[in-house]
Amino acid sequence: MLKVAKFGGSSMADAGQYQKVRDIIARDPARKIVVVSAAGKRFSGDHKLTDLLYLCHAHLQYGVDCGGVFDMIRGRYLEIRDALSLKLDLESDFAALREKMDRGISQDELVSRGEYFSAKLMAAFLGYEFIDSADWLRFNLDGSIDQEASYPLLRESAADKCAVIPGFYGTMPDGQIRTLTRGGSDITGALAAAALDADVYENWTDVSGILMADPRIVPEAQTIRRITYSELRELSYVGAQVLHEQTIFPVREKNIPLNIRNTNDPEHPGTLIMERFDDDDRDETFITGIAGKKDHTVITVTRSGMSSQVGEFRRILGVFEKHRVSVAYALTGIDCFSVVIEEKLLSPRRYAILAELQTDMHPDAINVSDGIAVVAVVGRKMAFRTGSSGKIFAKLGEHGINVRMISQGPEELNIIVGVKNEDYEKAIAVLYRSFVKQEVKS
Ligand code: ASP
Repeated sequence: MLKVAKFGGSSMADAGQYQKVRDIIARDPARKIVVVSAAGKRFSGDHKLTDLLYLCHAHLQYGVDCGGVFDMIRGRYLEIRDALSLKLDLESDFAALREKMDRGISQDELVSRGEYFSAKLMAAFLGYEFIDSADWLRFNLDGSIDQEASYPLLRESAADKCAVIPGFYGTMPDGQIRTLTRGGSDITGALAAAALDADVYENWTDVSGILMADPRIVPEAQTIRRITYSELRELSYVGAQVLHEQTIFPVREKNIPLNIRNTNDPEHPGTLIMERFDDDDRDETFITGIAGKKDHTVITVTRSGMSSQVGEFRRILGVFEKHRVSVAYALTGIDCFSVVIEEKLLSPRRYAILAELQTDMHPDAINVSDGIAVVAVVGRKMAFRTGSSGKIFAKLGEHGINVRMISQGPEELNIIVGVKNEDYEKAIAVLYRSFVKQEVKS
């Protein structure tokens, strides 16, 4: 049994958190591969190490002395080392880094050092081997990850070992360090799990998994215990933010379960994400989670006879493609076609697009509705239920919420409704409280 356990920035923030990580690792001998982030915030108002490293590089770029910021970074790691009584010579590593910075260092290499030092410290603290991600995680020239090259390299260096691996970076074909996008240590963990054919990929963070709804709107929202990869994708698409977007691809490809856990509440089972669950209890609520996003615009193009002409929808979508504006949803009616777009994506091209739709499509009307919020009710169990959507619309209607658009995916995994921005919070609260059985609190 092999578990790859990734610990995020908050789990690496100070010596106290390192102790919690060690307890978690000690509790399960299968946790042989540990992937770590750079030190995160210790309290609100504190700084993430990665942010400080970016700041450091900005100083270098503009020729401003970065000594103060560099000392903060160095100080954070030396403090952790000393508090854990580790005998590790970080001073010479930092001196070498400082010299390299004076000679000229790329932004990616400098910011990758947050994870590098975290992993060195954690490896020493756990008595695990340190495996540098520069030695196995390979990028292609276009910046994508070269899984074919990376996986065997990690297998060679990590097989049957207990090791700590820094997240967030790897190397380009010419050996230069390159980082993933922000939050990318999640991806490193997923790649390591896939490379080593782990039985589970554990992602340890500071929340007990994914909540069924945004707790700022529904304070009593429960944790999602089990969710499929497809459902998670639906929830993330409309705004639920848990993992780095690209995290799931490597583990999903290999059908490796992903378990989100809380370093500060290690007994909590968290959220388990799998391809499918064969033992679903069909009597449970049909909702897995509810998420959404405000500020969308719906543009509707109407022209009589449009539905019977070939290629009309493609021509409308082509206008958005030409302006590089991504369409979130497309809805069709007889002789009308609507697209739903995030306002922030539309606004720079809005008038150019509307003008082009007018000249290209010769419509009878173009209708634009701003201030639309999209709410997605996601649940794999909806497919087994008759009338799920009817119930949803009935509840919204009962509470005076006007539904401005409806979209249901063909695989019956989600129902998406558009409501006015002002009704967004109310819609989510009504749906949650109507359909999710409340846990009996003793
Ligand atoms: N340290 C990096 C960041 O802050 C990567 C990570 O923590 O996942 O984005």
